[in-house]
Amino acid sequence: MDLLVLPGDGIGPDISAATVEVVTAAMARAGCGTVNFSYADIGFVSLKAHGTTFTDEVFAASRDADGVILGPVSHNDYPPSDKGGLNPSGQLRRRLDLYANIRPARIRPGFTPRCGIPFDLVVVRENTEGFYADRTMFVGTGEVMPTPDLAMAFRKVTRQGSLRIAESAFKLALQRRRKVTAVHKANVLRVSDGLFLECVRQVSAQYPTVEYEEKLIDAMAALLIRDASVFDVIVTTNMFGDILSDEASELSGSLGLAASLNAGAEHGVAQAQHGSAPDIAGKDLANPASLIGSAAMLLAWLGERRSDPTLERAAALIEAALDRVIAVPEHRTRDLGGKLGTKAFTAKVIEALAA
Ligand code: ATP
Repeated sequence: MDLLVLPGDGIGPDISAATVEVVTAAMARAGCGTVNFSYADIGFVSLKAHGTTFTDEVFAASRDADGVILGPVSHNDYPPSDKGGLNPSGQLRRRLDLYANIRPARIRPGFTPRCGIPFDLVVVRENTEGFYADRTMFVGTGEVMPTPDLAMAFRKVTRQGSLRIAESAFKLALQRRRKVTAVHKANVLRVSDGLFLECVRQVSAQYPTVEYEEKLIDAMAALLIRDASVFDVIVTTNMFGDILSDEASELSGSLGLAASLNAGAEHGVAQAQHGSAPDIAGKDLANPASLIGSAAMLLAWLGERRSDPTLERAAALIEAALDRVIAVPEHRTRDLGGKLGTKAFTAKVIEALAA
């Protein structure tokens, strides 16, 4: 199996290296076939060498790989796109049609929940539409500035995009606690979120064994803090999903635990939910659990697609090892109140894989 690693900016190289070590050890332990890792530069390293943060060669390698491990990128600090500053994450999501961004958040064993109540939920976020200006247009971007004092953003919601993300959410709910919550703002965005809700309702009718409810985004932001344990699968549009999933991850302990998978019909890209954390880059301070957990999601996704139980076992081994290590306060990284650096934490996870 060929996995492409794109280390990215900031803490990307630190947490990618940790992830490759853990994935290699887990796959060996689970009896998976050979895995070949190849590497390519994106972000500032690529900008310096090639004049762009995301080359066509890297896109082709991503398309041809069995899966991609994508490090975080500092796209907010890139130059404009006509000067080579392309957001690698947006490029991959759009060009590989990675329409589902699956973002789990749960309280791991031994961990005290911030709001007092343990929870285990997944945000299923539409990934190719919404307000995300870099991926919603055939030509141009979804933001325009007709005059120096007027800026406008276009929000894209399609029937096809809404139906397929709803389908992903209900399928996932069948493997979990069988509840889907659609999050929207259809009381104001009557047309666009109206279409989104119409599609989710249509799909919900095909899953009579899955409980279905709807919540307004503003209420949902508060309800998550009140009691996140009542939610199982949350399905929503791009920007609401981006924000709610960060909220849920922070409630679970730290952004450093926040794993995610970008999945389409043909491609899967593992990517931590957080950004490039330039404040702690290269200092052996980053928590790599986010990207390690994302890679486990990629292995599980590949295992299901290929009917390969060894890949699913490798994914389960990684998740269990993360649980075991994070359960011990002395084995946590600093973002979780512990003392371990990235490398020492990674060594503990590998040790736990063998236990
Ligand atoms: P960017 O500009 O790329 O979005 P940022 O620092 O503004 O970067 P995040 O990277 O999401 O935004 O980080 C927000 C905060 O969370 C930072 O203080 C960062 O140090 C911390 N953080 C993020 N990821 C991790 C991690 N994996 N381990 C430890 N701390 C993290």
